Amino acid sequence: MNVARGSDIADYVSSIPLIDNHCHSVKLSMLTQLEFGNFLRESPPRKDDGESAFYSMIGMTLLKRCPEVLGASRFVEPWEYVELRRSFSPYEVATKFMNSLDVSVHLVDTGFNAGDLVSLEEFAHFGRSTVYEVVRLEAIAEETLAKHGAEVFLDAFPDVLRSRASKAVGVKCIAAYRGGLELTADMPDLDLVHEELQRLEASGKPHKIKVYGKVIESYLAHLALETLTLPIQFHVGFGDPDVQIDRGNPSYLTPFIRRASELGRGVVLLHCYPYHREAAYLAHAFENVYLDLGLTMNYVGSRSADVLRETLELAPFVRVMYSSDAYGLAELHFLGQLMFRESLTQVLQGWIAESLCSFPYAKKVADLIGSQNAQRLYAL
Ligand SMILES: [Zn+2]
Repeated sequence: MNVARGSDIADYVSSIPLIDNHCHSVKLSMLTQLEFGNFLRESPPRKDDGESAFYSMIGMTLLKRCPEVLGASRFVEPWEYVELRRSFSPYEVATKFMNSLDVSVHLVDTGFNAGDLVSLEEFAHFGRSTVYEVVRLEAIAEETLAKHGAEVFLDAFPDVLRSRASKAVGVKCIAAYRGGLELTADMPDLDLVHEELQRLEASGKPHKIKVYGKVIESYLAHLALETLTLPIQFHVGFGDPDVQIDRGNPSYLTPFIRRASELGRGVVLLHCYPYHREAAYLAHAFENVYLDLGLTMNYVGSRSADVLRETLELAPFVRVMYSSDAYGLAELHFLGQLMFRESLTQVLQGWIAESLCSFPYAKKVADLIGSQNAQRLYAL
């Protein structure tokens, strides 16, 4: 009886349309093994040794699950996979993987190397989905600084942000990459922000200035809270080597979350690993906090269900969402939703088998996490 009901939930979870609340567009080009392998790491691109990237949880999972989409029926070796992929045009590869998704809405972060990837219109065509933009605070701040300079920045930036975010459904903040998540509890003193901007301008190359540090990151995040009504997403936990991992612990965001709560703004903790339990606590403690395990699920592969189980120990089911955080490779969009559906199935099957919940309750949890929480938060 339990087995039959468990397999029903597998069918259900494998068929529900998802909302991917954080991802990037895809790259359309013929990739060498080295170039392909570089998309399987968060670390900077390697100049040689294209094979080692495949000897990891994400590489192994890809070699097991992706060949099927391209017509092969078994686990393939790294060189075979790259050769198989190269037997199709980049357009065909993107179409095959994106058509295997059933993601109804993609929220796309356009703030990272978007020029290398296909436009949002083309991406919507590949994904057969509705696409909305999430704008990245740091990218807009850097463009504004390059264009207007430090002296005019503070006068110009609020209007630039309002205009760039006018069609977006959320903003993204990468303070974790720019010194850490320890933001101020309130808007910092604007004279201090001005001084920091002058310092950055004096030390950086024109048009290549990176905004960085607690004062400026706090200014950007608080300005988003005060001038927009959109949810704000934060990169949390692991990423590339710009992150000092302990400073990516979402616990540091607590004072900021309190301020966001006062203003009625949602805060989304993205990725979260290895701090998914801290993120779950924050979602439990603050009604304006949401989280996802995007990126994490692709990277931990077959351990996804364990990470999801640990997250759901404390995170309310009404505030966990799906994302892939796929970037560049259509395969990562495909694997993201596959790992999500399989891990959610395993968790819900376990609950049903242990008589912890009913079948309708498990379906409701799948709907909430798969799409309804994101729909509500981003007003989609
Ligand atoms: Zn991302």
